[in-house]
Amino acid sequence: MNASESVLEPASASLPDSVTVRVPAKVNVQLAVGGRRADGFHALATVFFAVGLWDTVTARPGRGVTLTVSGRDADVVPTDDSNLAARAALALAAHHGVEANVALHIDKDIPVAGGMAGGSADAAAALLACDVLWGLGTDRETLFGLAADLGSDVPFSMHGGVALGEGRGERLTPVPVGGTFHWVFAVADGGLSTPAVYGECDRLREEAGGPGGADESRVPQPSADAALLDALASGDAAALGAALGNDLQPAALSLRPALARTLRAGTEAGAIGALVSGSGPTCAFLAKDAGAAAAVAAALVKSGTCREVRLTEGPVPGATLA
Ligand code: ATP
Repeated sequence: MNASESVLEPASASLPDSVTVRVPAKVNVQLAVGGRRADGFHALATVFFAVGLWDTVTARPGRGVTLTVSGRDADVVPTDDSNLAARAALALAAHHGVEANVALHIDKDIPVAGGMAGGSADAAAALLACDVLWGLGTDRETLFGLAADLGSDVPFSMHGGVALGEGRGERLTPVPVGGTFHWVFAVADGGLSTPAVYGECDRLREEAGGPGGADESRVPQPSADAALLDALASGDAAALGAALGNDLQPAALSLRPALARTLRAGTEAGAIGALVSGSGPTCAFLAKDAGAAAAVAAALVKSGTCREVRLTEGPVPGATLA
């Protein structure tokens, strides 16, 4: 083929038939929750940490936006426009004024409604996959803006690694990390609704502080924990384990008291840190090395306090073309 022939080809001829993006789960190694604002949101200072449990999103040419799901818990993932991946495709198309024509497929491995940002991960992956499938070449800043409009955790799912999230969690600053950390996740039966957990957090604060006790004026401004950032920078697992913190944990435990037994089982088996992941109910355990992680995982399985146990490492990169 010579140069003049290629010029006559339709633009779509150079576009791919299929684009696949791999995207990780997250755990919040710190989740500091400020008071309830007038708009109902809470200011956050959260340190997101991407871990190696992956969803895979594939985008192919289609008519309208269609969605299929396979893998873990596929039966409880919505396949209509309420799926965050479908909403991401629609938002990207609307931004560019193009028709949203794509057949999306999600292969799920991230626990659903587990506090590990599975839906947000799929939204980030769908943004990236559709951008390439449709040949849009959207700049990074615009993609991150669309991601933030879709949900507070979506920008981090694109970003990956470790990052401090402020505002609603969408304003990211990369955090330096000096090593690999070994994680064990205890997946619970059934999910917890993120809004319900925030609601319970407010209720507990009112109970402790009286009327208005959950309001912005009464709860200290959330800020990043210096000891936790130092532990990440130096790759010191014991120090990170000691600094883990989640302000939503009392609320998750209040709604799901059985999680206390899960946390105890992992700690008694040698975990150097344990916390509820995000809004729960997944519990996250930090181990000092791969061997210790395997021992914690085995003890959790034996304890019968969770549905499933997953072992992984991090940090890992964010949404990436496969
Ligand atoms: P986060 O940690 O961001 O609060 P989560 O991990 O607790 O989220 P998700 O797995 O994102 O929770 O699922 C929460 C709800 O979102 C599900 O119950 C489901 O109804 C809906 N949902 C929408 N899109 C998806 C998706 N792509 N994958 C999973 N759930 C989705």
